[in-house]
Amino acid sequence: MKLKKLLKQCLSSGCSGTIRFVHEGRRGSMHLRDGQLLHAELGGAEGEVALFQMLEVPEATVVYDTVSEVAPATVYRTVEELLGVTVKKASPPRGLFVPPHYGELVTALAQAESVILLSHIRPDGDAYGSTLGLGLSLLALGKRVRIFNRDGLNSLYRFLPRAELIERTPARLPEADLLVALDTSTEERLGLGDSLRPAVSVSVDWNIDHHASNTGYGRRQFVDPSQPAVAGVVTDLIAEARWPLTAEVATALYVGLLTDTGSFRYRGTSPHTFDQAALLVAKGADPAELAKQCYQNISVARFKLQQRALANLQFEFGGALTHTTLTPADFTESGALVEDTEGIVETGLAISGTELAALFELKDDGGLKVSLRSKGRVNVSELALEFDGGGHPGAAGIGFKTDGAAARERVLARLRKEFV
Ligand code: AMP
Ligand code: MN
Ligand code: MN
Repeated sequence: MKLKKLLKQCLSSGCSGTIRFVHEGRRGSMHLRDGQLLHAELGGAEGEVALFQMLEVPEATVVYDTVSEVAPATVYRTVEELLGVTVKKASPPRGLFVPPHYGELVTALAQAESVILLSHIRPDGDAYGSTLGLGLSLLALGKRVRIFNRDGLNSLYRFLPRAELIERTPARLPEADLLVALDTSTEERLGLGDSLRPAVSVSVDWNIDHHASNTGYGRRQFVDPSQPAVAGVVTDLIAEARWPLTAEVATALYVGLLTDTGSFRYRGTSPHTFDQAALLVAKGADPAELAKQCYQNISVARFKLQQRALANLQFEFGGALTHTTLTPADFTESGALVEDTEGIVETGLAISGTELAALFELKDDGGLKVSLRSKGRVNVSELALEFDGGGHPGAAGIGFKTDGAAARERVLARLRKEFV
């Protein structure tokens, strides 16, 4: 089928998926999802044309683009010519790096015999679920896979299939063909300390993420902020590559999707997210069992820490801003661990009229960890970036190594500015 006809047909019936094409000797691709043209790219000379699932697209909007060889204006013009529509141009979010399409990532992983998967310090369900899901699929393909996390496996996620594969990061990383980071917005959050120094010639080959604040570290990046979880990126990757999607892979990925979407409640949860969930459940993920494991499985110590955090909750501006602070004594007296704070900050948003919730954790060493959550009016990712933190518009964090008490005051003063 002629490309122009194919694209016209695709637009008139609407579509969601990836279209790859060759136009005037140039390879290109477009990613369409849920009524938006997410990403368009023109590149080299070879290519193929592929059309996936047909759905409705009312209007084509280029949300972002990254172009290696061709100026963005040329891409917009070409897309307009090819599709015969006017393209809305939105500026790319800060720090966004998107490779042409899954193809290059698929090829890189397919060619590697040994792969190391890394994710961020203080790991959450998505950090574990995305690395374990990808790792188990690559293992089923016969590759050698190691999954490392600086903080190892925490007790809440021991139920994950083959959880023993998640190892504490060794002081020196072993040799591997490919080093892949998942769900980690900055290289520092990999917690590798000095082991990434060029002197030992170790560096991240692929940076796979969904944080718009991703700094673009590593040799290649695959950052898709339209995905509410990296587990979703991995689900699409495995589906596109037709790699093994066993019940264990599906279970790990479902946990990433479930936890990072706050049980499919947060902004960013799209029709595509439910397609992914449907696929994972069809492949063997058990929604009732996994909800129980993720949300009704906490230790008494963690519950006691939550009680203390709630007892200390402060209300400002008629409850529009809520915040609470945990001290080292709260941890020792409740017997809780640092990882036991997961979920506490969200509770501060439960109240009607609350827009912004903050959790401050003062550390023994004088440092401070800040967690921010927003119902939508305030972009907490931008707020966190002002203090060298990061995250998503609805969920972000900041770390301070020293002067925690003073830093807490500075952050609080900044938060209050949103309401005066
Ligand atoms: P948390 O409050 O730790 O649950 O983090 C919320 C979100 O912000 C997550 O997506 C984290 O990846 C991100 N985040 C947390 N702390 C930092 C930080 N110090 N720098 C950059 N991103 C962060
Ligand atoms: Mn995460
Ligand atoms: Mn994530």
